[in-house]
Amino acid sequence: MTLPVIIVSVKRVCLISLVAAVVITLLFIIPVYITVKINAPITNVICGKTIIIDPGHGGDDPGAQGCSGLLEKDVVLDISLRLADLFSRAAVYTVLTRDTDGWLDLEDRIELIRSYNADIYISVHANSFPEPIWSGAQTFYFSKSEEAKSLAVFIQRELAGRLGPNVRKVKPGDDYFVLRKSSVPAVIVEVGFLSNPREEALLAQKDYRRRVAEAIFYGTVNYFSSVPDLHTED
Ligand SMILES: [Zn+2]
Repeated sequence: MTLPVIIVSVKRVCLISLVAAVVITLLFIIPVYITVKINAPITNVICGKTIIIDPGHGGDDPGAQGCSGLLEKDVVLDISLRLADLFSRAAVYTVLTRDTDGWLDLEDRIELIRSYNADIYISVHANSFPEPIWSGAQTFYFSKSEEAKSLAVFIQRELAGRLGPNVRKVKPGDDYFVLRKSSVPAVIVEVGFLSNPREEALLAQKDYRRRVAEAIFYGTVNYFSSVPDLHTED
């Protein structure tokens, strides 16, 4: 009676091993297939670009704070990390001015553009206003740069289209140091108002932050798609 039991056990082990092998293979193949499928046309447009992603504030500088305690520095870091991940999957080289809760001087943030010969600079912030009624993501650019304005328009279009009702338009932000000093097209994306309780609650959600990152990503892709001659001669 011992032998058949052993044979049955061996068969069972073989079956389990086969199923495990198939599952493991699918786990590896499916994500690769999906990634390639998503990125194939995108990669043609922006692969090889270098993008500086600047999560605003950090360290002792929390930036704005929502009424439930959400801090701008944390929100924008999470969105920036998600954005960097999207770009890296599309073969874009990204440099984060910070990838932890640290602080980097504004001059040093801008210096990264030269150090890495970057193509564009994207600074991510969250807005705040004394009155809680104001809401909506908004993109700012340096008024003397037509390319920066174009980048801002494409990003703003995706933000408005993907994140719900938002009538805000792009706006010159010449008071912003990083926009004035940037030698490449630069924008500041204010991802929403932390002073608005509804928008603070949205920004507290991982899925919403993922959608914000996707909006910035696709806006950037559309920007590079719109003016290929300007961006392929580097
Ligand atoms: Zn800020």
